Amino acid sequence: MPDVEIPCVQCKEIFIFTEKEQETFYQRNMMAPQRCPKCRSKKMATGENAPTRFEIVCDHCGKHDQVPFQPKVGRAVLCRECFQASKSRMKFA
Ligand SMILES: [Zn+2]
Ligand SMILES: [Zn+2]
Repeated sequence: MPDVEIPCVQCKEIFIFTEKEQETFYQRNMMAPQRCPKCRSKKMATGENAPTRFEIVCDHCGKHDQVPFQPKVGRAVLCRECFQASKSRMKFA
């Protein structure tokens, strides 16, 4: 496979997806990267591994918990346990 030029979805800069990289990605069953190496490392630096956590109070049991997303104001937020419980309830409903 020849090198491919891919426009970065973030900064629109063209970067080279080399033959060697393609092999690695292919072996790992990964999709071709959409971001240039610069944006990719920036994304990692901003904490791919340490996602932002938002403190919440469960609407159901009143327990404090942390969720990886910004809770919507005025919408019920559930702690992990209640969320799991509500999910399995939906499955069996
Ligand atoms: Zn980029
Ligand atoms: Zn709860």
